[in-house]
Amino acid sequence: MPVQPAGQLVDGFGRVHTSLRISVTDRCNIRCFYCMPAEDVQFLPRAELLTFEEIVRTVRVGTGLGIRKLRLTGGEPLVRRDLPELVRQLAEIPGVEDIGLTTNGILLAEQAAALRAAGLKRLNISLDALDPDVFRQVTRREGYERVLEGIQAARQAGFSPIKINAVAIRGLTEDQLVPFGQLARETDTEVRFIEYMPLDADNAWERDRVLTAAEILQRLSTEFGGLRPVEDPAVNGCATAAAESDSTVVQLPQLPQSAAARAPATEYQFADGRGRIGIIASVTQPFCHSCNRFRLTADGKLRNCLFSLEETDIRDLLRSSPQDAPIAAAMQRCIAAKQAGHRIDSADFQQPDRPMYSIGG
Ligand code: SAM
Ligand code: SF4
Repeated sequence: MPVQPAGQLVDGFGRVHTSLRISVTDRCNIRCFYCMPAEDVQFLPRAELLTFEEIVRTVRVGTGLGIRKLRLTGGEPLVRRDLPELVRQLAEIPGVEDIGLTTNGILLAEQAAALRAAGLKRLNISLDALDPDVFRQVTRREGYERVLEGIQAARQAGFSPIKINAVAIRGLTEDQLVPFGQLARETDTEVRFIEYMPLDADNAWERDRVLTAAEILQRLSTEFGGLRPVEDPAVNGCATAAAESDSTVVQLPQLPQSAAARAPATEYQFADGRGRIGIIASVTQPFCHSCNRFRLTADGKLRNCLFSLEETDIRDLLRSSPQDAPIAAAMQRCIAAKQAGHRIDSADFQQPDRPMYSIGG
């Protein structure tokens, strides 16, 4: 196992880890088919969840090792009671520069203002369809109107731009691409399309159902007269090739090799300058080479990759060790063991036992 520089989270490929995604619960109020089973989900007993105190302690240890950026997720993070209080405590930790949240938006109308006041800086709202019927097919629940109310409340609370995450699925959401493009062009909304990944509880993922980044760009480009990668190195690193405005053949830029790139989304601007979209091409253009993130599950396991088959328990240490050093050492061990990439496309790819809702997306 590679020896790490003291005080940093560096893996064997030189990737420095500064970003931690924290799952605060595995519970959820909807049942997206690419994430959860439809019925009979076994949720963690409450005693197995990390307390706010344990999460805060983990982050304190992590900031000592260079963590600067946090994102709260789940399950659905807004079903965890008093979430704004956790945000407030995390925002006070020296070294924490940025706190984001990914939510399905169902409970956002009630909580957006409190989250903002507590120090939440960024918000991603997951919404795969602007058509309520398609929403119901994806989520297997009602709630479309509530998500729209949540988006509205987020705007009023001062979150800007509003980022929408939309998983793109062949045979289901192709017709949503253009309406989302229109939304991005007409409002202060950035839509980030995510390629469908093999992390569903039902093990029903098929490669053919991945609506790819190339296809998404092609469709939007044809409809709106072209897209070009945002030429901001802070956003897209060294992306250079542009999708020509008058062409229906879209040339995909290589994903940035720069460690400074803000992976994983590659951002594009419509050729006429009106609006932006992002694409997270985890399947067809993995961004593993510039990955700087790792994860803490709701039950206190560190995971160095979404697709990792191994995890490092820190809950026992949090509950048994008054010293922080063993927790820091466990974090460093977890990062040191990180593989080069997830290898979804290789023949021996093995889907992790934990589906997305129990990892924390
Ligand atoms: N419940 C919150 C939500 O849906 O925003 C946070 C957790 S959810 C697991 C985080 C993100 O992962 C969501 O944007 C969701 O669409 C995405 N996601 C879940 N399963 C996925 C899959 N199999 N492939 C791609 N994205 C997925
Ligand atoms: Fe719940 Fe998010 Fe999974 Fe959908 S993607 S089932 S909202 S945790």
